Amino acid sequence: MNQQLQLLVAIQDLEQMIRDTEDETRAREFTEMGFTLNGLDNLKKSLIELETQLDPRHRNYYRKLTQKFGHAVVPVIGNLCMGCFANIPSSFVSVTHENKVLHCENCGRILYWP
Ligand SMILES: [Zn+2]
Repeated sequence: MNQQLQLLVAIQDLEQMIRDTEDETRAREFTEMGFTLNGLDNLKKSLIELETQLDPRHRNYYRKLTQKFGHAVVPVIGNLCMGCFANIPSSFVSVTHENKVLHCENCGRILYWP
């Protein structure tokens, strides 16, 4: 996976963790499961750090997608986009090792192959 894509996946995960931590109900559930959630400041710091490494083009596109869909970066499983379930052409798969960030032709979400 290329570095920009790794960053995008990591940023999305971090944002989800921050949302969960800020949501009182979810936070209580996590605490009851035995997790400690006092690292919110650290999470936010890590997020800023990751975002500075991200190409501004990708950052803007990611922001737009997040506003539209909630999840901007989705995995491809069994040749299907997990955002809209459109078929991803197998020609896409062959270029995943190049330094490119690929988008679903149907919904526009950023794709990664887990
Ligand atoms: Zn899609």
